[in-house]
Amino acid sequence: MTVKKLSPEELLGINKFVVDEEEPHIVLDKSICAGCKEKPCLVVCPAVLYTLKDGEVNFDYAGCLECGTCRIVCKNKGIIKWTYPRGTMGVSFRYG
Ligand code: SF4
Repeated sequence: MTVKKLSPEELLGINKFVVDEEEPHIVLDKSICAGCKEKPCLVVCPAVLYTLKDGEVNFDYAGCLECGTCRIVCKNKGIIKWTYPRGTMGVSFRYG
């Protein structure tokens, strides 16, 4: 039997998400992010949800893997809210 190896992108694409459109579980204060020189969130998020556009940090909580890494590395407290999504919302991991 041959087992096909999946790339990280393919594995991430198998996960299912129920996005809570009414209540984001992660909220940034972009005025704080603007003053952050390191912006570690841009490199640590395994889902690449933090991006930089015209010098501003952009973020979309849809697709969040709920790992908590951004919360840990955000030393300037630009993340003003980090909780798990409400019940039945968020990621359901599928392992292919
Ligand atoms: S909790 Fe993890 S996956 Fe979600 S935004 Fe933060 S670093 Fe990315």
